[in-house]
Amino acid sequence: MPGWPVSAQTRLLVIAPHPDDETLGCGLLLQQVLAAGGDVRIILMTDGDNNPWPQRHLERRLIINDVARRRWGAKRRDEVMHALKQLGVPASALHPLGWHDMEVTRRLSDDLTGSIAAIRAVLEAFQPNLVCGPALRDSHPDHGAAHVLVRLALAGMDQAPALLAYLVHGAGDAPDCPLLIEAVAEQQPRKLQALAEHRTQMTLSGKRMRRLALSPERYMQVDTQVGDGRLPWRPPAVLHRWLRLLVATPAGVRDWPWLEAPLVRDADGSFRLEGAACRPVFVKLHLDWPSPWIFDHWGWREITTTLPLHGEEEIGPKLG
Ligand SMILES: [Zn+2]
Repeated sequence: MPGWPVSAQTRLLVIAPHPDDETLGCGLLLQQVLAAGGDVRIILMTDGDNNPWPQRHLERRLIINDVARRRWGAKRRDEVMHALKQLGVPASALHPLGWHDMEVTRRLSDDLTGSIAAIRAVLEAFQPNLVCGPALRDSHPDHGAAHVLVRLALAGMDQAPALLAYLVHGAGDAPDCPLLIEAVAEQQPRKLQALAEHRTQMTLSGKRMRRLALSPERYMQVDTQVGDGRLPWRPPAVLHRWLRLLVATPAGVRDWPWLEAPLVRDADGSFRLEGAACRPVFVKLHLDWPSPWIFDHWGWREITTTLPLHGEEEIGPKLG
Protein backbone atom coordinates (compact mmCIF):
# COMPACT_ATOMS: atom_id res chain seq x y z
CA MET A 1 0.00 0.00 0.00
CA PRO A 2 1.66 3.30 -1.07
CA GLY A 3 2.37 5.68 1.80
CA TRP A 4 2.23 2.86 4.38
CA PRO A 5 4.15 2.12 6.59
CA VAL A 6 5.12 5.75 6.91
CA SER A 7 8.35 7.16 5.49
CA ALA A 8 9.77 10.41 4.13
CA GLN A 9 7.71 9.68 0.98
CA THR A 10 4.38 9.56 2.83
CA ARG A 11 1.97 12.32 1.88
CA LEU A 12 -0.93 11.92 4.30
CA LEU A 13 -4.29 13.63 3.89
CA VAL A 14 -6.54 13.35 6.96
CA ILE A 15 -10.29 13.91 6.56
CA ALA A 16 -11.85 15.28 9.77
CA PRO A 17 -15.64 15.88 9.78
CA HIS A 18 -15.36 17.96 13.00
CA PRO A 19 -12.69 19.64 15.10
CA ASP A 20 -11.22 16.91 17.38
CA ASP A 21 -11.53 14.04 14.83
CA GLU A 22 -8.03 14.85 13.53
CA THR A 23 -6.63 14.26 17.01
CA LEU A 24 -8.86 11.38 18.12
CA GLY A 25 -8.61 9.52 14.83
CA CYS A 26 -5.10 10.31 13.60
CA GLY A 27 -3.16 12.17 16.33
CA LEU A 28 -0.41 9.53 16.43
CA LEU A 29 -0.30 8.91 12.68
CA LEU A 30 0.10 12.63 11.96
CA GLN A 31 3.04 12.82 14.37
CA GLN A 32 4.66 9.70 12.93
CA VAL A 33 4.43 10.88 9.32
CA LEU A 34 6.04 14.20 10.28
CA ALA A 35 8.72 12.43 12.37
CA ALA A 36 9.57 10.26 9.33
CA GLY A 37 10.02 13.39 7.18
CA GLY A 38 6.71 13.01 5.30
CA ASP A 39 4.11 15.70 4.70
CA VAL A 40 0.52 16.08 5.95
CA ARG A 41 -2.67 18.01 5.20
CA ILE A 42 -6.02 18.02 6.97
CA ILE A 43 -9.43 18.68 5.45
CA LEU A 44 -11.70 19.98 8.21
CA MET A 45 -15.21 19.61 6.78
CA THR A 46 -17.26 21.42 9.44
CA ASP A 47 -16.55 23.77 12.30
CA GLY A 48 -18.56 21.63 14.72
CA ASP A 49 -20.95 24.55 15.20
CA ASN A 50 -24.09 22.52 15.89
CA ASN A 51 -23.07 21.24 19.28
CA PRO A 52 -25.80 22.59 21.57
CA TRP A 53 -25.35 20.71 24.84
CA PRO A 54 -21.71 21.63 25.52
CA GLN A 55 -22.53 25.18 24.38
CA ARG A 56 -25.53 25.44 26.73
CA HIS A 57 -23.39 24.11 29.53
CA LEU A 58 -20.38 26.37 28.97
CA GLU A 59 -22.22 29.53 27.96
CA ARG A 60 -25.04 29.09 30.49
CA ARG A 61 -27.70 29.76 27.86
CA LEU A 62 -30.69 27.72 26.76
CA ILE A 63 -31.44 29.18 23.34
CA ILE A 64 -28.73 28.74 20.72
CA ASN A 65 -29.39 31.08 17.79
CA ASP A 66 -27.39 31.53 14.57
CA VAL A 67 -25.08 34.14 16.08
CA ALA A 68 -24.28 31.85 19.03
CA ARG A 69 -23.73 28.93 16.67
CA ARG A 70 -21.29 30.91 14.53
CA ARG A 71 -19.42 32.01 17.64
CA TRP A 72 -19.16 28.38 18.77
CA GLY A 73 -17.88 27.29 15.35
CA ALA A 74 -15.19 30.00 15.43
CA LYS A 75 -14.14 28.86 18.89
CA ARG A 76 -13.85 25.26 17.74
CA ARG A 77 -11.87 26.29 14.63
CA ASP A 78 -9.49 28.03 17.00
CA GLU A 79 -9.24 24.92 19.15
CA VAL A 80 -8.27 22.75 16.20
CA MET A 81 -5.45 25.18 15.33
CA HIS A 82 -4.08 24.86 18.85
CA ALA A 83 -4.44 21.08 18.77
CA LEU A 84 -2.50 20.86 15.50
CA LYS A 85 0.26 22.97 17.01
CA GLN A 86 0.58 20.44 19.82
CA LEU A 87 0.90 17.68 17.21
CA GLY A 88 3.62 19.62 15.37
CA VAL A 89 1.40 20.26 12.33
CA PRO A 90 1.80 23.72 10.75
CA ALA A 91 -1.32 25.89 10.51
CA SER A 92 -0.90 26.00 6.71
CA ALA A 93 -1.66 22.25 6.57
CA LEU A 94 -5.30 22.82 7.56
CA HIS A 95 -7.93 23.15 4.81
CA PRO A 96 -11.22 24.13 6.46
CA LEU A 97 -14.24 23.73 4.18
CA GLY A 98 -16.48 25.73 6.54
CA TRP A 99 -19.50 23.41 6.20
CA HIS A 100 -22.06 23.20 8.98
CA ASP A 101 -22.04 20.51 11.62
CA MET A 102 -24.71 17.78 11.04
CA GLU A 103 -25.06 18.85 7.42
CA VAL A 104 -22.64 16.56 5.61
CA THR A 105 -25.46 14.20 4.58
CA ARG A 106 -27.52 17.14 3.29
CA ARG A 107 -24.51 18.42 1.31
CA LEU A 108 -24.07 14.96 -0.16
CA SER A 109 -27.73 14.99 -1.28
CA ASP A 110 -28.08 18.63 -2.34
CA ASP A 111 -24.66 19.53 -3.73
CA LEU A 112 -22.73 16.39 -4.56
CA THR A 113 -20.78 18.06 -7.37
CA GLY A 114 -19.68 21.05 -5.28
CA SER A 115 -18.84 18.89 -2.26
CA ILE A 116 -16.73 16.51 -4.33
CA ALA A 117 -15.02 19.45 -6.05
CA ALA A 118 -13.97 20.89 -2.66
CA ILE A 119 -12.30 17.58 -1.73
CA ARG A 120 -10.80 17.05 -5.19
CA ALA A 121 -9.19 20.51 -5.09
CA VAL A 122 -7.11 19.47 -2.07
CA LEU A 123 -6.40 16.02 -3.54
CA GLU A 124 -5.12 17.59 -6.75
CA ALA A 125 -3.06 20.30 -5.06
CA PHE A 126 -1.45 18.04 -2.44
CA GLN A 127 -1.27 14.72 -4.33
CA PRO A 128 -1.44 12.48 -1.23
CA ASN A 129 -0.42 8.83 -1.44
CA LEU A 130 -2.33 8.03 1.76
CA VAL A 131 -5.79 9.31 2.75
CA CYS A 132 -7.15 8.64 6.20
CA GLY A 133 -10.85 9.30 6.78
CA PRO A 134 -13.84 8.24 8.87
CA ALA A 135 -15.12 4.68 8.62
CA LEU A 136 -18.27 4.08 6.57
CA ARG A 137 -19.95 2.36 9.51
CA ASP A 138 -19.18 5.13 12.03
CA SER A 139 -22.62 5.83 13.54
CA HIS A 140 -22.28 9.64 13.51
CA PRO A 141 -24.10 10.73 10.32
CA ASP A 142 -21.42 13.30 9.39
CA HIS A 143 -18.73 10.62 9.61
CA GLY A 144 -20.49 8.03 7.45
CA ALA A 145 -21.41 10.71 4.89
CA ALA A 146 -17.80 12.02 4.91
CA HIS A 147 -16.61 8.51 4.02
CA VAL A 148 -19.08 8.32 1.12
CA LEU A 149 -18.00 11.74 -0.17
CA VAL A 150 -14.31 10.82 -0.05
CA ARG A 151 -14.95 7.52 -1.84
CA LEU A 152 -16.94 9.30 -4.53
CA ALA A 153 -14.20 11.96 -4.84
CA LEU A 154 -11.58 9.22 -5.28
CA ALA A 155 -13.71 7.14 -7.70
CA GLY A 156 -12.44 7.48 -11.21
CA MET A 157 -9.10 9.08 -10.26
CA ASP A 158 -6.27 7.63 -12.33
CA GLN A 159 -3.82 7.29 -9.45
CA ALA A 160 -6.05 7.00 -6.40
CA PRO A 161 -4.14 7.08 -3.10
CA ALA A 162 -4.42 4.30 -0.53
CA LEU A 163 -7.35 4.82 1.84
CA LEU A 164 -7.47 3.98 5.54
CA ALA A 165 -10.49 4.43 7.80
CA TYR A 166 -10.70 5.25 11.48
CA LEU A 167 -13.68 4.77 13.79
CA VAL A 168 -14.69 7.34 16.42
CA HIS A 169 -18.32 6.41 17.20
CA GLY A 170 -18.88 2.71 17.73
CA ALA A 171 -15.23 2.29 18.71
CA GLY A 172 -16.12 -0.79 20.76
CA ASP A 173 -16.04 -2.61 17.44
CA ALA A 174 -12.58 -1.29 16.53
CA PRO A 175 -10.68 -4.57 17.15
CA ASP A 176 -11.59 -5.56 13.60
CA CYS A 177 -9.52 -2.60 12.39
CA PRO A 178 -6.30 -4.56 11.90
CA LEU A 179 -3.74 -1.80 11.29
CA LEU A 180 -2.47 -0.61 14.62
CA ILE A 181 -0.28 2.36 15.54
CA GLU A 182 1.33 2.42 18.96
CA ALA A 183 2.69 5.64 20.41
CA VAL A 184 6.44 6.14 20.32
CA ALA A 185 8.29 8.27 22.92
CA GLU A 186 6.37 11.50 23.65
CA GLN A 187 3.63 10.98 21.06
CA GLN A 188 0.96 9.82 23.49
CA PRO A 189 1.35 12.79 25.88
CA ARG A 190 1.37 15.13 22.88
CA LYS A 191 -1.83 13.56 21.59
CA LEU A 192 -3.41 14.11 25.02
CA GLN A 193 -2.23 17.74 25.03
CA ALA A 194 -3.75 18.20 21.59
CA LEU A 195 -7.00 16.70 22.84
CA ALA A 196 -6.98 19.02 25.86
CA GLU A 197 -6.98 21.97 23.45
CA HIS A 198 -10.51 20.93 22.41
CA ARG A 199 -11.81 22.48 25.61
CA THR A 200 -15.41 22.80 24.43
CA GLN A 201 -15.55 19.04 23.93
CA MET A 202 -13.62 17.94 26.99
CA THR A 203 -16.14 19.54 29.36
CA LEU A 204 -18.92 16.98 28.86
CA SER A 205 -17.16 14.17 26.97
CA GLY A 206 -13.63 14.32 28.38
CA LYS A 207 -13.71 10.85 29.91
CA ARG A 208 -14.78 9.10 26.69
CA MET A 209 -12.37 11.16 24.60
CA ARG A 210 -9.40 10.53 26.88
CA ARG A 211 -10.16 6.79 26.85
CA LEU A 212 -10.19 6.84 23.04
CA ALA A 213 -6.98 8.86 22.88
CA LEU A 214 -5.15 6.49 25.25
CA SER A 215 -5.86 3.46 23.04
CA PRO A 216 -3.59 2.63 20.12
CA GLU A 217 -4.87 4.07 16.85
CA ARG A 218 -6.61 1.44 14.74
CA TYR A 219 -7.29 1.66 11.04
CA MET A 220 -8.92 -0.50 8.46
CA GLN A 221 -7.85 -0.64 4.86
CA VAL A 222 -10.63 0.45 2.52
CA ASP A 223 -11.22 -1.28 -0.78
CA THR A 224 -14.38 -1.55 -2.80
CA GLN A 225 -16.49 -4.19 -1.08
CA VAL A 226 -17.99 -6.37 -3.76
CA GLY A 227 -21.39 -7.70 -2.74
CA ASP A 228 -24.49 -8.84 -4.57
CA GLY A 229 -26.53 -5.63 -4.48
CA ARG A 230 -28.58 -6.74 -1.46
CA LEU A 231 -29.41 -4.32 1.33
CA PRO A 232 -28.05 -5.43 4.70
CA TRP A 233 -31.40 -4.67 6.42
CA ARG A 234 -34.91 -6.09 6.46
CA PRO A 235 -36.83 -3.27 8.11
CA PRO A 236 -40.20 -4.23 9.65
CA ALA A 237 -43.19 -3.63 7.36
CA VAL A 238 -44.85 -1.40 9.95
CA LEU A 239 -42.10 1.22 9.34
CA HIS A 240 -42.08 1.09 5.54
CA ARG A 241 -44.35 4.11 5.02
CA TRP A 242 -41.96 6.34 7.03
CA LEU A 243 -38.68 4.95 5.72
CA ARG A 244 -36.49 6.48 3.05
CA LEU A 245 -33.63 4.88 1.15
CA LEU A 246 -30.68 7.10 0.34
CA VAL A 247 -28.54 5.83 -2.56
CA ALA A 248 -25.21 7.45 -3.46
CA THR A 249 -23.08 6.62 -6.50
CA PRO A 250 -20.59 8.67 -8.55
CA ALA A 251 -23.52 9.57 -10.85
CA GLY A 252 -25.51 11.20 -8.08
CA VAL A 253 -27.66 10.75 -5.01
CA ARG A 254 -31.33 9.76 -4.74
CA ASP A 255 -33.46 9.79 -1.61
CA TRP A 256 -36.36 7.40 -2.28
CA PRO A 257 -39.44 6.86 -0.14
CA TRP A 258 -39.01 3.16 0.71
CA LEU A 259 -42.29 2.25 -0.99
CA GLU A 260 -41.16 3.86 -4.26
CA ALA A 261 -37.53 2.68 -4.21
CA PRO A 262 -36.48 0.32 -7.05
CA LEU A 263 -36.20 -2.71 -4.78
CA VAL A 264 -36.94 -6.33 -5.52
CA ARG A 265 -37.55 -8.91 -2.81
CA ASP A 266 -35.55 -12.13 -3.06
CA ALA A 267 -36.96 -15.52 -2.10
CA ASP A 268 -35.11 -15.41 1.23
CA GLY A 269 -36.82 -12.10 2.15
CA SER A 270 -33.84 -9.84 1.52
CA PHE A 271 -34.13 -6.64 -0.52
CA ARG A 272 -32.04 -5.95 -3.61
CA LEU A 273 -31.56 -2.60 -5.32
CA GLU A 274 -32.68 -2.95 -8.91
CA GLY A 275 -30.18 -0.73 -10.61
CA ALA A 276 -27.27 1.65 -10.19
CA ALA A 277 -25.08 2.19 -13.23
CA CYS A 278 -22.07 3.77 -11.52
CA ARG A 279 -20.06 2.11 -8.80
CA PRO A 280 -19.33 2.18 -5.89
CA VAL A 281 -22.91 2.10 -4.54
CA PHE A 282 -23.67 3.28 -1.00
CA VAL A 283 -27.02 2.99 0.76
CA LYS A 284 -28.51 4.29 3.98
CA LEU A 285 -31.96 4.07 5.53
CA HIS A 286 -33.53 6.86 7.49
CA LEU A 287 -36.90 7.66 8.97
CA ASP A 288 -39.00 10.50 7.65
CA TRP A 289 -39.67 12.01 11.06
CA PRO A 290 -37.67 14.29 13.36
CA SER A 291 -35.77 12.65 16.19
CA PRO A 292 -33.56 14.00 18.97
CA TRP A 293 -31.34 10.91 18.48
CA ILE A 294 -28.58 11.95 16.10
CA PHE A 295 -26.81 8.62 15.57
CA ASP A 296 -27.55 6.35 12.62
CA HIS A 297 -29.46 3.13 13.17
CA TRP A 298 -29.33 1.92 9.55
CA GLY A 299 -26.20 3.90 8.64
CA TRP A 300 -24.26 3.87 5.37
CA ARG A 301 -23.27 0.52 3.86
CA GLU A 302 -21.69 -0.39 0.54
CA ILE A 303 -23.59 -2.78 -1.73
CA THR A 304 -21.37 -2.55 -4.78
CA THR A 305 -21.87 -5.44 -7.16
CA THR A 306 -20.08 -6.52 -10.31
CA LEU A 307 -23.26 -8.24 -11.49
CA PRO A 308 -25.34 -6.36 -14.05
CA LEU A 309 -28.36 -5.26 -12.04
CA HIS A 310 -31.78 -5.60 -13.57
CA GLY A 311 -33.05 -2.25 -14.85
CA GLU A 312 -29.59 -0.69 -14.51
CA GLU A 313 -29.79 1.21 -17.77
CA GLU A 314 -33.09 2.85 -16.79
CA ILE A 315 -32.30 3.65 -13.18
CA GLY A 316 -28.67 4.70 -13.59
CA PRO A 317 -29.16 7.96 -15.48
CA LYS A 318 -31.96 8.97 -13.12
CA LEU A 319 -29.61 8.99 -10.18
CA GLY A 320 -28.75 12.56 -9.45
ZN1 LIG B 1 -16.66 13.93 14.52
